[in-house]
Amino acid sequence: MSTRDCGYRLRVSVASTITPTAVAGLLRGRSWVALTGAGMSTDSGIPDYRGPTSVRATPMQYSEFVGSGESQRRYWARSYLGWRRIGRAEPNPGHRALADLEAAGLAGVITQNVDGLHSAAGSTRVINLHGDIATVVCLECGDRSARSELQRRLTSANPRLDQPSVLQHAELRPDGDAVARDWQQFRLVGCVLCGGRLKPDVVFFGESVPKSRVEAAYVLMQQAEILVVLGSSLTVMSGLRFVRHNAKLQRPVVIINRGSTRGDELASLKIDGGCSETLTELRATLVGYAQLH
Ligand SMILES: [Zn+2]
Repeated sequence: MSTRDCGYRLRVSVASTITPTAVAGLLRGRSWVALTGAGMSTDSGIPDYRGPTSVRATPMQYSEFVGSGESQRRYWARSYLGWRRIGRAEPNPGHRALADLEAAGLAGVITQNVDGLHSAAGSTRVINLHGDIATVVCLECGDRSARSELQRRLTSANPRLDQPSVLQHAELRPDGDAVARDWQQFRLVGCVLCGGRLKPDVVFFGESVPKSRVEAAYVLMQQAEILVVLGSSLTVMSGLRFVRHNAKLQRPVVIINRGSTRGDELASLKIDGGCSETLTELRATLVGYAQLH
């Protein structure tokens, strides 16, 4: 075990086996921000692309999506099937524990997930870094509309695909993308206002996170002393940059994730474990403590 000076007069331990109690000891009485990834939602039935039990998948790149009508048709056929499950996903005990932890110094949540489950669980300050799968944006006029409304329109346009025998073979992916074998027959619909091409309001691979969202995330982090990464392997720079930013300012970074992450060497504390069980323990310790004092 070694110690590392993280500023704020904190000296924290770096060891191979860290317990939630050690994390609670660091967070107690301090303000912190959570950065969450796919591992946060696996217990809600949404699989992780990159976790130890991940499905092998090659997500569609932004350039491919906007580049051809065929790609859009393939994407929406898959998304149409995937929505059947992602549209029904519910917050898990980890989401609920995190919402309760606002009573114990949690200033807000920055999430890489697009499933909306933090807000559904009651978290009041959430920055959806990669957008929101429940919203659709028109690439021509910029109009935003509800994904559920598009689902109804796609159901009307594709009555044959609405058969349970097709749906039960749908392989769900984190962005609501499922495998559709019959996408060539899939009928696409356009924007209700201008007939333009529709895109889910999520950041695709190869697409940049809107600047305003990144700035909002930095503002939120500025208000906290500690960054806690939950269920992200920090593979993409959109998440890793926040860890690097905090480490540069000599602020503690806590990582709770199954398996290694790209930010491990910058972490003050690392728990190799699941989000739901760790957050449930943190709530028991910290929220109980907050109520007692
Ligand atoms: Zn439009």
